[in-house]
Amino acid sequence: MAEELVNVICTFCGSVCDDVLFDVENYKGKKFCKLGSGKFSPKERIKSPMIDGKEVSYEEAIEKAAEILVNAKRPLLYGWASTVNEAIRLGVILTEKVGGIYDQCASVCHAPGTLALIEEGVPGGSLGEIKNRADMVVFWGSNPLEAHPRHPMRYSVRAKGLLIKDRKDRKVVVVDVRKTKSANMADLFIKIKPGYDYPIISALRAIIKGEESAVPSEVGGVKKELLKELADMMVNAKYGAVLYGLGVTQSRGRDRNIENAIKLIQLLNRKTRWIIWPMRGHYNVVGAGEVPAWEAGYTYAIDFSRGYPRFSPGEFSANEVLQRKDCDAALIIASDPVAHFPRASVAHLKKIPVIQIDPFPNMTTLVSNVVIPSAVAGIEAEGTAYRMDGIPFRVKKVVETEYWSDEQILEKMLEKVDQLMG
Ligand code: SF4
Repeated sequence: MAEELVNVICTFCGSVCDDVLFDVENYKGKKFCKLGSGKFSPKERIKSPMIDGKEVSYEEAIEKAAEILVNAKRPLLYGWASTVNEAIRLGVILTEKVGGIYDQCASVCHAPGTLALIEEGVPGGSLGEIKNRADMVVFWGSNPLEAHPRHPMRYSVRAKGLLIKDRKDRKVVVVDVRKTKSANMADLFIKIKPGYDYPIISALRAIIKGEESAVPSEVGGVKKELLKELADMMVNAKYGAVLYGLGVTQSRGRDRNIENAIKLIQLLNRKTRWIIWPMRGHYNVVGAGEVPAWEAGYTYAIDFSRGYPRFSPGEFSANEVLQRKDCDAALIIASDPVAHFPRASVAHLKKIPVIQIDPFPNMTTLVSNVVIPSAVAGIEAEGTAYRMDGIPFRVKKVVETEYWSDEQILEKMLEKVDQLMG
């Protein structure tokens, strides 16, 4: 069939590329990276709403889901990172109504960074600033070539901007525990011992403060000379960016690593201009935190069972709740905890009623009592999403579909819950 190309926004990773094309006639993406084209091409879908494996209408599935949520003492409503803000907003309202727990995918990836921001604030900047100004970029515990494949080309390595005219105008450093694909594109790769991010950041701070005599000859597998070279590069950059990943947030020290890194950036900002920012994974994981923050004041791990929001990571994060068997039903949206959570969490999910809302079947479908298929945001449904740097984008609907959007499904579910609760 003849191509009919329209400009769309990729709703796969946190880079939220807004320069990609979609062939509406042939349902196929163009210009996407491998990860994005996997989503923007025909793939297996959940065909119909189901209750206990039996096909039903949307209305029946939503009614059953509402009954489960209303009858539960403390349901867990988890996922949210791969849907739009409009749906997340309804999800927060729904969680409050049913006295449940709202948690999102960041609780198992970048949440330690969020805790550090609460403590220290964040000297941040947008991807546009990085593209236009950054003459030095440090990827710390992040591997953009594999997790955000077009990020280096669009914003951080090869991107040309206002002040950066060429690749040689920008120094790229990768700090990681192994030589990743991204390390091969760096001007300098620093291999560190796993779990030594904190002392290495402390050593850099000491060197920059002029207290290098306090630094031993080697820290976390890195020679002092190399640390001095890195510190020197950082101080001499005009505009630098540390872009960190799960290698820092999920290794020993977790939120303390990020706090220490923010202190390093604060120190550098006394001499030059630096920013620090997380390489967020799912396309709207930022929205999954920002929207509950507008609504309830917190970004994840929020318990509404007392009628008001309480924030307690490690207590109300999905994994901990499931392992303590502290929820008696779950609604999982745009996420696959069965594939990614530890066995003890999955064991509890198998014992309680589970509602799933997702365009695609996954491991969680297998344990769900109620399965509600949804439209793919960015192709079949519109809405707003925050790119990894917090910039909002309007994702489009370019294809007509019979599937309901997450927003429609949750709106109807709220209506049903209201009716059942009287
Ligand atoms: S880098 Fe991310 S947002 Fe861009 S096309 Fe690839 S998956 Fe999509």
